[in-house]
Amino acid sequence: MEKNSLRNLTNKKLGENITWLSVIINIFLSILKCILGIFAHSQALIGDGLHSLSDLITDITALISFKISFKPEDENHHYGHYKFSSLGALFISAFLFLFCIALIVTSIKSLFTGGGELPEWPALAAALISIIFKEWLYWKTKKIAHQLKSRVLLANAWHHRADSFSSLFVLLAIIVAMIGGENWLFMDKVVGLFLGAYLAFQSIKLLYHSSEDLLDKAPEHTMINDIREHILPTPGVIGYHQFRARRIGDLFEVDLHLQVNPNISVEEGHIIASHVKENILQQHAEVLDVLVHIEPANPQHLKEKGIYGLDQKSL
Ligand SMILES: [Zn+2]
Ligand SMILES: [Zn+2]
Ligand SMILES: [Zn+2]
Repeated sequence: MEKNSLRNLTNKKLGENITWLSVIINIFLSILKCILGIFAHSQALIGDGLHSLSDLITDITALISFKISFKPEDENHHYGHYKFSSLGALFISAFLFLFCIALIVTSIKSLFTGGGELPEWPALAAALISIIFKEWLYWKTKKIAHQLKSRVLLANAWHHRADSFSSLFVLLAIIVAMIGGENWLFMDKVVGLFLGAYLAFQSIKLLYHSSEDLLDKAPEHTMINDIREHILPTPGVIGYHQFRARRIGDLFEVDLHLQVNPNISVEEGHIIASHVKENILQQHAEVLDVLVHIEPANPQHLKEKGIYGLDQKSL
């Protein structure tokens, strides 16, 4: 497939499988909740079942964008399809944000209208099953997302956390109402309000990061310095400038101007450039590609431009 160690078939399968698992769990949960809801005459539970069904939208978004991001270059995308995963993450976090706003609005509304029905055991069972499955999915997906450095999988993991937390608070509200009776029904709405606010905050963070990814954000300073450390020690390198790094989906692309002895051949210069590239790629799995522009090390090119470095010993 590709040279980059993060972009292999095993990782692709890993990311796809965890998302497929989430699809299956969401289908199972939505059927379970709807059946229990109809059986127990609970509007809330049927509504929750429909939410699980809508969770499929983000699963499918994650699946499609993750899959496409692994596609090789084609006629219309000369730089590959890496950014599709950032786009998928943007979509999922926007969806999550809208869901939170809806939750906040309905909670405030029902706080003013009051009332509501006392929950029964099917709601309790459904919430409990939801928590177990979604929390498990959250940890599993998050682990794989970090392993693959995949923002879109991380966004989907946060959606699982959102689902498990909402079920957890629903569970607490149900228990309180079952024990305390009618007077404690408001708990459910208060819980919805705080939950919505917390998750809205998380989804804004995700929204912000996936936008940054789409806008060619540079990596952290420590990482830039880490990458630069591999340039000057390469034999034959005298200096470099215009070092740049930018996001391309979940990975980074680096380009720089490399100064070498003006009297060596094009062939030799190219070998030095290849070594610089190999050194960086070997040490940094998060770097997808390095583009090196070769220049003669004369005063005109040994200028301090952008992010630069000079090997004083070679001068
Ligand atoms: Zn959800
Ligand atoms: Zn230059
Ligand atoms: Zn080349």
